[in-house]
Amino acid sequence: MIEKKDFPLLRYNTFGIDVTAARFIEYDSVDELRELITGARFSEPFLHIGGGSNLLFLNNYYEGTVLHSNIKTIEVTDEDSCAVRLKVGSGVAWDDFVAHCVKRNLYGVENLSLIPGEVGAGAVQNIGAYGVEAKDLITEVHTIDTEGRERIYSHADCRFAYRYSIFKEPSSKGVIVTYVCFRLSKQESYTLGYGTVRKELEDYPAVTPGAVREVIIRIRNSKLPDPAVLGNAGSFFMNPVVPKTTFEAIRRDHPSMPFYPMGEDSIKIPAGWLIEQSGWKGKSFGPAAVHDKQALVVVNKGGATGRDIIALSDAVRRSVKEKFGIDIHPEVKTIC
Ligand SMILES: Cc1cc2nc3c(=O)[nH]c(=O)nc-3n(C[C@H](O)[C@H](O)[C@H](O)COP(=O)(O)OP(=O)(O)OC[C@H]3O[C@@H](n4cnc5c(N)ncnc54)[C@H](O)[C@@H]3O)c2cc1C
Repeated sequence: MIEKKDFPLLRYNTFGIDVTAARFIEYDSVDELRELITGARFSEPFLHIGGGSNLLFLNNYYEGTVLHSNIKTIEVTDEDSCAVRLKVGSGVAWDDFVAHCVKRNLYGVENLSLIPGEVGAGAVQNIGAYGVEAKDLITEVHTIDTEGRERIYSHADCRFAYRYSIFKEPSSKGVIVTYVCFRLSKQESYTLGYGTVRKELEDYPAVTPGAVREVIIRIRNSKLPDPAVLGNAGSFFMNPVVPKTTFEAIRRDHPSMPFYPMGEDSIKIPAGWLIEQSGWKGKSFGPAAVHDKQALVVVNKGGATGRDIIALSDAVRRSVKEKFGIDIHPEVKTIC
């Protein structure tokens, strides 16, 4: 276990906000975590972080305890001719887990290559990319709460939806994810609904999980800024889902608007398109800016505070609301 006072979190948030935590604790096992959170010395407030790739710190000092998992095991719990079940520690880097599966020719997770962050948060966020979401592979989630009670959430208990799980509810505030269990297929199957991915795969002699991973990594590197170079948290906003009537009204004036039907009566509209049409692509607002290649991404050009980022985000949201009448909401979690 590592315990530090006045710990700089610059390395633990991809926005590159210069923030310090009053206390930082990294634990190595569930037993260590239980002892810690049920102990007399543990008090609120606390924040459990992963890789900090979906966090925005508003202030430059966090007055509580920041917890971080160093549970890094990947264990096969069951295997038959069709599938492998894996129990993966919350502190495993998400992309290491993807690489582990791809190396063993397991199918299902390759489209989620190169998403930053750790496995615990991957379940909390129900991360997704290129037509696949973490929920498609997760079978159960192991947790412990601040009373020391352990609970295994079934897939249904997790109530997964677009970038959502029960672990985002205020009622789950004291719940910490310790392990995530996945089922990966041994039988060849791919999700190749995206034309850009299919096109790049034409250069490969055969489609394999490794080839899909390579293509996805290449596409992502060409489209998204590297947080090590330009602070960001990936997509800053969620894509709004609107009623069909609202969509049709907007489409009359904007026939080229891209969209994705979500069942009978709802349509998902790419927030990046709405932001671009509102004139924000590449625009700066002090030290914060909307990325010039991908309008969904807000970047820290250097020295931005959390409040600078929020000022830009509020201005973008106002413009989109004025132009389209649609509310867009941040995907990134703001920490006060
Ligand atoms: C360049 C870039 C590209 C990205 N691309 C994508 C993408 O394609 N798809 C996508 O879905 N996301 C994407 N993201 C967002 C981000 O990678 C995901 O949201 C990721 O799951 C965050 O993981 P993390 O470990 O960094 O979590 P953090 O940002 O540290 O935390 C996120 C949330 O999870 C909670 N949490 C973390 N660990 C635990 C735990 N063990 N128990 C309970 N709660 C916990 C935190 O309290 C917080 O609420 C991108 C981000 C960046 C910077």
